[in-house]
Amino acid sequence: MKKIGVLTSGGDSPGMNAAVRAVVRAGIYNGLEVVGIKRGYAGLINGEIQNMDLSSVADIIHRGGTILRSARCLEMKEDEGFKKALNVIDIFGIEGIVVIGGDGSMRGAEKLSKAGIATMGLPGTIDNDLAYTDYTIGFKTAVNTVLGAISNIRDTSASHDRVSIIEVMGRHCGDIALYSGIAGGAESIIVPEVEFSVEEICKRLIQSKNRGKRHSIIMLAEGIGNAYDITKEIQEKSGLEARLTTLGHLQRGGSPVAYDRILASRMGERAVKLLMEGKKSRAIGITGTDIRDHDISEALSMKKEINMELYELAKVLSI
Ligand code: ATP
Repeated sequence: MKKIGVLTSGGDSPGMNAAVRAVVRAGIYNGLEVVGIKRGYAGLINGEIQNMDLSSVADIIHRGGTILRSARCLEMKEDEGFKKALNVIDIFGIEGIVVIGGDGSMRGAEKLSKAGIATMGLPGTIDNDLAYTDYTIGFKTAVNTVLGAISNIRDTSASHDRVSIIEVMGRHCGDIALYSGIAGGAESIIVPEVEFSVEEICKRLIQSKNRGKRHSIIMLAEGIGNAYDITKEIQEKSGLEARLTTLGHLQRGGSPVAYDRILASRMGERAVKLLMEGKKSRAIGITGTDIRDHDISEALSMKKEINMELYELAKVLSI
């Protein structure tokens, strides 16, 4: 193995830069030539490729976003686009690729590996929706960002005796809502993985109000459906003033927390090591405190489940 490429794909996440830095630095440390592929699979198809030296990744470990930029690229899913990608890989003499991205990006990585390209997948997404790893790069930073928002909303919510409903990202995964809800002391946490009843939520709100609580925070994961309708229903059924705040892309930005920087650094270095060992198709994750690698197809076939212990804990602590 002489030359490897690295790309970031799908929704960006804090810590992607730390991962790119780790791949570049570990690659060069081990005598490899490293190229950066811009704008994910779109840049791969279009040949947007740049050489990466040690200084190209200087001063980025603390930055959110991705210096390689990211994109969603439908062409990669189609035969013609995919052939173009393989052609570019061949022309540039790239022998191994590190893909940093979420579930969809990992499927692209799987496809490349099935076509014979040695490919490593790093879980770069705030959603924490990949079953094969305890945590994805960017998740913990996003939870901290949401916590900051909860704090601010709590101030205004308390001044107006309101129920504040905060909608967070996660696609079909409720982890951002669950973790930030527990850490932020939310009264209720609504996630797509667990059935919920608006009546039950309203009952808890009214009980809290009756024992003197003047405001409440409800966390809602985006995968649940129409947040506006749920807010309206809660307001109507509880008789309390309810306001919805959708945090949106705010959750994707910001400087990565230490955990994400270290996770990204460890995973990036492992990816390079595996490529040098001749591995062809690995998804890199963390289990407990150990960095582990799995066959990409097996990793993608695992089903993500919500941590019910945490979910029940949230219920106990918010009585
Ligand atoms: P996030 O979870 O943050 O949204 P993601 O990686 O899941 O990130 P997607 O938009 O689902 O984001 O996927 C990113 C890109 O991966 C797609 O735009 C496409 O280029 C590529 N991709 C997704 N699915 C496939 C597939 N089945 N085959 C080939 N490429 C794919």
